[in-house]
Amino acid sequence: MKILVLNAGSSTQKSCLYEILNALPDTPPKPLWEAKIDWMQDAAMLSVTTQQGTSLEEQILGGERQEGIGRMLATLYQGETQVLSDLQEIDAVGHRIVHGGEKYREAVRVTPEVVEAIASLIPLAPEHNPVNLEGIDAISKVLPDVMQVAVFDTAFHATLPPAAAVYPIPYSFYEQGIRRYGFHGINHQYCRDRVAALQNRLPHRLITCHLGNGASLAAIRDGTCIDTTMGFTPLEGLMMGSRSGSIDPGILIHLLRQGYDVERLNRLLNKESGLKGLSGVGNDLRQINRAIASGSDRAQLALEVYLHSLQRHIGAMLVSLGGLDTLVFTGGVGENSPLVRRSACQALEFLGLQLNEAENEARPIDRDIASAESPVRVFVIRAREDWAIAQECWKINDE
Ligand code: AMP
Repeated sequence: MKILVLNAGSSTQKSCLYEILNALPDTPPKPLWEAKIDWMQDAAMLSVTTQQGTSLEEQILGGERQEGIGRMLATLYQGETQVLSDLQEIDAVGHRIVHGGEKYREAVRVTPEVVEAIASLIPLAPEHNPVNLEGIDAISKVLPDVMQVAVFDTAFHATLPPAAAVYPIPYSFYEQGIRRYGFHGINHQYCRDRVAALQNRLPHRLITCHLGNGASLAAIRDGTCIDTTMGFTPLEGLMMGSRSGSIDPGILIHLLRQGYDVERLNRLLNKESGLKGLSGVGNDLRQINRAIASGSDRAQLALEVYLHSLQRHIGAMLVSLGGLDTLVFTGGVGENSPLVRRSACQALEFLGLQLNEAENEARPIDRDIASAESPVRVFVIRAREDWAIAQECWKINDE
């Protein structure tokens, strides 16, 4: 079965093609073809690589997203990156859909009703759901008869108990849909499954730390998500690359009184805060590390606030779970920063948790990095949202 995955963000469009032969493999396979469009450049840039090692980089002329997606798909069956003789060889297309609201608790086949529901949720995800719908639309035009599957980033958190999901504001707001939804669910769920496969059992009390440019934690008891740090929007919780995470809402009232309008507040909290806002050098931890090495006190402060935010939110998840058996690090920071992992783990030494320092430094991927004696296991899991989406397509096709 050949499965195309579309993962549309506000600034990038990522896509992969997988082939699953008779059964889901035990280890995540490499895609046959991977493509990315970066819309943020002056002229959108398309880059493609294939499993065989062929690559392509080109500017997309025209600038319309639909044209860009069309050109990206053409590289599947034309030119040096060709991996299909025809687009019609594709058996299913999976889409990452950021917001599934309260309705979608698992992946579903795309139908006109599903499209309508995703559109109705645009007010809750104004930057994401519209671009996700563009992807569905683009595929419907070129492959009208192929099964499309919507995989929701909120679905894994649909099991949050009311005490974790409801905000302490007047109840009527909850009735309007203002509640904790949680995000990054596709990867939190993937990490739950991957760590269960690596440990040969589902951990009883698991915290998954998705630390990328955006960042969130999930508290997972016996496989079910019971708490998470992101909320009604992806702004809540941990300090992130350019998002503030949780701050006193009184600060917003104060700034509104000072004349800030909605757009300025939105930009401030989502694009100009976090590591970037505090350090003044950028949202990427590598930039922060370089600035610290050259003596920047602000970069040092940004890192310290980041680590403190991570530790205190892990503490919250730990108490929600009543203890911890397995801790997972994933995402660009979680996978690549021994320092962030060490710092988070040091705060948990009172549980007896001990890292194996050599493993922690050895660029681990899908490995246990706790010492042999540690009662809490610690894993680094490479985020594979695209593969998680492909697996959902396979499962739905199999039903
Ligand atoms: P993601 O959103 O999961 O792709 O993560 C992107 C972020 O991961 C970047 O903004 C960096 O902060 C971080 N990152 C990626 N590679 C490294 C690295 N080698 N060392 C430290 N941080 C990294």
